[in-house]
Amino acid sequence: MASVESVDTARLERILAMFRDRGGRVTTPRRTIITALLEAGSHVTADELADTVQSAHPDVHRSTIYRCLGSLEELGVVDHVHLGHGRAVYHLADESHQHLVCESCGTVVEVPDKVFATLAKGVHKQFGFLVQPRHFAVAGRCRSCAG
Ligand SMILES: [Zn+2]
Ligand SMILES: [Zn+2]
Ligand SMILES: [Zn+2]
Repeated sequence: MASVESVDTARLERILAMFRDRGGRVTTPRRTIITALLEAGSHVTADELADTVQSAHPDVHRSTIYRCLGSLEELGVVDHVHLGHGRAVYHLADESHQHLVCESCGTVVEVPDKVFATLAKGVHKQFGFLVQPRHFAVAGRCRSCAG
């Protein structure tokens, strides 16, 4: 695990403040999970997160880590997305974005929420269906795989 200096501490403090505002208690495993997500700078599975937390705090049980992840998600601090075939990965929820995943090379492209706004509006108008593009990535081919 990288040193604390490498983390965007302002963002970490902002996230912890948001967390306290929503009634969450900042415990060591919770803080470590948030720090690990900040350090990863991308999308990680629950298992990868558990490995990172345990390498820094071997005394923290995996079941505690999974439970913490669940409570961070309930508080809206952390969010998960399925990138393909049900594989769930976690990211911090403070910077909202949508995901495109390349079926050929697995590259994940983060795009602004507004990219799907027109689609969501059209689907709602025509079918009364509220599209929730956050929960699953949109699959396709990335720029380099598409040739
Ligand atoms: Zn899910
Ligand atoms: Zn993401
Ligand atoms: Zn690709």
